[in-house]
Amino acid sequence: MRQIAFYGKGGIGKSTTSQNTLAGMAQNGNRIMIVGCDPKADSTRLILNTKAQVTVLALAAERGSVEDIELEDVLLEGFEGIKCVESGGPEPGVGCAGRGIITSINFLEEEGAYEDLDFVSYDVLGDVVCGGFAMPIREGKAQEIYIVTSGEMMAMYAANNIARGVLKYAHTGGVRLGGLICNSRNVNREVNLIEELAERLNTQMIHFVPRSKQVQEAELRRMTCIQYSPDHEQSAEYRTLAKKIEENTKLTIPTPIDNDTLEELLINYGLLGSEEEYAKVREADEK
Ligand code: ATP
Ligand code: MG
Repeated sequence: MRQIAFYGKGGIGKSTTSQNTLAGMAQNGNRIMIVGCDPKADSTRLILNTKAQVTVLALAAERGSVEDIELEDVLLEGFEGIKCVESGGPEPGVGCAGRGIITSINFLEEEGAYEDLDFVSYDVLGDVVCGGFAMPIREGKAQEIYIVTSGEMMAMYAANNIARGVLKYAHTGGVRLGGLICNSRNVNREVNLIEELAERLNTQMIHFVPRSKQVQEAELRRMTCIQYSPDHEQSAEYRTLAKKIEENTKLTIPTPIDNDTLEELLINYGLLGSEEEYAKVREADEK
């Protein structure tokens, strides 16, 4: 069993990209479980074709404790038999998002949910909330990290920061970086830019996912493109990414770069944003 996770800047497309890719992997015969690690609980809706699944934490709170819930209350099967669980957690700013993730993972382990699977996938929330973001890595669960990014400055900054996080736990827990997924924002020379970033980070750009309205068309119906429009070219892109992840053997210890090097890269590509935008990034970094 391989345990993978999708990280990246808030709103970059982790939940969409992961569900589309996992749908493709399931069609290739893989047995998959998705563990949603975002209080928004939107890591499984395109697979389940539902609004939002009941979360482990919400149900535990309603019933009194996690001992009062059964596996089948929180683990639902969706498209191609993909097993779906949402951890749940506090609203942003209210408490620690990591608590829900640990509670769920422990519960799933005790109930034997990790048996007979080829892939477990963790979809986390975008921006760091009280260290909850690192939870699947820190707990030694997610072993293979895919960073979703685009050629936009903030997405690349986030990607580099996540690489730092992976490096931090690489020696103790054995986590590795599987690659960067470029979820295109139609930035100039985006492929070259992300390939170069990948090289600097000692990884690969595993796939370039084009921006497409079809993603939203499908999302409106609460479906992946793969399910809603299997013959559309966007679905073919996700199937290609699925295959690449299945066959990926390039798992590395990342070499994050310093901010000056990242800025140089952006300047070389003529992409450094306005002074204000840049100041904001620096400020966020210092926090
Ligand atoms: P969060 O950090 O809040 O969890 P996220 O990284 O999971 O966000 P998503 O919710 O997957 O981001 O995506 C944000 C929006 O971007 C969605 O409305 C989705 O439809 C859209 N989107 C993602 N990828 C693409 C794409 N390749 N083409 C067009 N739209 C896309
Ligand atoms: Mg998400």
